[in-house]
Amino acid sequence: MLEIGCHLSAAKGFYHMGKEAVSIGANTFQFFTRNPRGSRAKALDEADVDRFLAYGQEQGIKRILAHAPYTLNPCSKDEHTREFALETMEDDLRRMEYVPGSCYNFHPGSHVGQGAETGIRMIADTLNRILELEDWHTTLLLETMAGKGTEVGGRFEELASIRERVERKEKVGICLDTCHVYDGGYDIVGDLDGVLREFDRVIGLSHLKAVHLNDSKNPFASHKDRHEKIGEGSLGLETFRRIVNHPLLKDLPFYLETPNELPGYAAEIRTLRQMVRDPD
Ligand SMILES: [Zn+2]
Ligand SMILES: [Zn+2]
Repeated sequence: MLEIGCHLSAAKGFYHMGKEAVSIGANTFQFFTRNPRGSRAKALDEADVDRFLAYGQEQGIKRILAHAPYTLNPCSKDEHTREFALETMEDDLRRMEYVPGSCYNFHPGSHVGQGAETGIRMIADTLNRILELEDWHTTLLLETMAGKGTEVGGRFEELASIRERVERKEKVGICLDTCHVYDGGYDIVGDLDGVLREFDRVIGLSHLKAVHLNDSKNPFASHKDRHEKIGEGSLGLETFRRIVNHPLLKDLPFYLETPNELPGYAAEIRTLRQMVRDPD
């Protein structure tokens, strides 16, 4: 069965997110570990997590995806900013230990003029320091980026070289965002197979652990990163039909980050599930 969900608000806790996910036909979900601006996280409510785990098992939620605040920058010029990223990620991973077997997605960072090579080295250093702290039960995912400004991770090569420098590589995978890669210049509309071959050649498809399903408000290679509702942007419905049915992708967990409230997400999940039942 298609493993699909969307981004949900974590304000009311894990059990509430689980209930919300099930109510819209989802069997997984994504959430921000804290306010996206990166402020302090709420104290973890263990009873709430336990209630969620029992409910999730009953409802077939196998794993969830935590998303780090997108303002963290492990390759900032400023050492305090880099340390803040490391400390926040460490704190997030400590909390994720209560939900073992899940993934933790983050934006690699922006090199702010220091050059991609320096950015890559700083991100890998941060990951190495985090991974030597504990034997985490969470897989860290580098997200593919649109290549906006000085973002690192807009090219598969950059993600591959971050991973390359990490000692405990088995703990680091990739989350492919369909809007970002298309905006970044990978033509998943005209040549999905070609892009997947390229991903496999540069990074290795076995390291792809999750997919963010987003249409794009902007044309191919615009390097913009503005998400659109499924089927209403430059990717189009047929692209998503090919993605959710693709033999190399169909068993991955899919997460919608489209501009929607719950009813809109429910409709997109229904549409995508229908496409899997009815591939053409
Ligand atoms: Zn993201
Ligand atoms: Zn994304």
